[in-house]
Amino acid sequence: ADFPRNSPSPQDVQAMDKAHHLHPWTNFGPFEEKGALVMSRGEGCWLWDAGGRRYFDAIGGMWCTNIGLGRREMAEAIADQVTRLAFSNTFVDTTNEPAALLAAKLASLAPGDLNRVHFTTSGSTAVDTAYRMVHYYQTAMGRPEKTQMIARDYSYHGSTYISQSVGKRPGDRVPFFRYQETGIHHLTAPNPYRAPEGMDEAAFCDWLVAEFEAKLAQIGPEKVGGFFAEPIQASGGVIVPPEGYLQRMAAICRQHDILFVADEVVTAFGRLGHWFASEAEFGIQPDMITCAKGLTSGYLPLGALIFSDRIWQAMAADGARWFTSGCTYSGHPVACAAALKNIEIIEREDLLGNATRVGALFEARMKALEALPMVGQVRGRKLMICVENVADKATRALLPEDLDVGTRIADTCEAMGLMVRPLGHLNVMSPPLTLTAEDVGMVGDTLERAIRQVA
Ligand code: PLP
Repeated sequence: ADFPRNSPSPQDVQAMDKAHHLHPWTNFGPFEEKGALVMSRGEGCWLWDAGGRRYFDAIGGMWCTNIGLGRREMAEAIADQVTRLAFSNTFVDTTNEPAALLAAKLASLAPGDLNRVHFTTSGSTAVDTAYRMVHYYQTAMGRPEKTQMIARDYSYHGSTYISQSVGKRPGDRVPFFRYQETGIHHLTAPNPYRAPEGMDEAAFCDWLVAEFEAKLAQIGPEKVGGFFAEPIQASGGVIVPPEGYLQRMAAICRQHDILFVADEVVTAFGRLGHWFASEAEFGIQPDMITCAKGLTSGYLPLGALIFSDRIWQAMAADGARWFTSGCTYSGHPVACAAALKNIEIIEREDLLGNATRVGALFEARMKALEALPMVGQVRGRKLMICVENVADKATRALLPEDLDVGTRIADTCEAMGLMVRPLGHLNVMSPPLTLTAEDVGMVGDTLERAIRQVA
């Protein structure tokens, strides 16, 4: 294939992308027809495409641009670390200052005795490592038969073989791929809007807990090693569980020595106004937390698995064991330096406080969209919001899939300079934590106009 000698025009870039670049979650037909919009610049919550058009990014990158784009301070911290030490491996007997400081910082921010950190390259590889660590821990504890895992329908835990098998968004399960079918069990998603008819939230919560207990009885709790749960299921449609659900699930896990893995890839670093949502928002004390995304606000790729002293001690008890897991780039000094600066900015600018204050306005403005005839429910908390469009508000009947209403609303917003994410019949938003009250008004009014146009 040809490669242009001179600087390519935006049209050239788009053509090269279309000809050579396979994007994540690509729908081949529309992609081969239309190609992708080329983005070239970002500042705060705003993006500019290669043609100079400006968009407000209410998607927040992909749940990740928490401090907003284009910060010189981040560029300087990254450049400084590249100049000082661009890379050194962290395999066993060497480390670097940013990795050590970041591990200690995360231990200070994480709940309870979650004082140990293993760095990964992404959220997917953090979940993958958590899955393997469940096996390691349970085996080290003399319970090698505790290999099976419990997760939930509509969860999303990543795109490696195991993390995607732990997840189960129905649309992702295409017949062309294979998934780990044995040893992973999925429970009903705790979505009160889709509870069995006539069941209120409290009754639904009892029903979900009973389902978990029945599943454990069926498998045998002595065979179950771990439970994987996003505190709010993000990419499955911003599913906020019933009050008390996570606490009750965690208590059952504790009773049966099942490790509770909180997948906080989306909910950590301020999206819900806290460093981590597990304890602060939901009152649970997980055994492991997976995180990524907001850890660097998307400035560089980085993931982390934060786990308890208890797990470390069990794994290390023998003194002669090997933890045979990790990536070349685990503890990458530049990514860790970016994360440290990102956390410093969140602290200095009180972005957790802003997410709580402006998040409440955002939640309220979005909730008002429920007055529209097509909007069945607006759900979520603070800076994590989903609009569910339906055919019939009374019956909650779904719109025909081929209407592709989420995409039509997102395209209409895009034409008006606003990015919202389509997910089937849903539209999802996770703007940067720097969102202002004025932004809330603009996003709400634009999305409302788009929904009215499409309805
Ligand atoms: N876990 C959750 C809850 C996520 O939302 C995601 C990504 O969206 C992942 C894991 C995977 O993270 P990554 O895309 O960084 O591999």
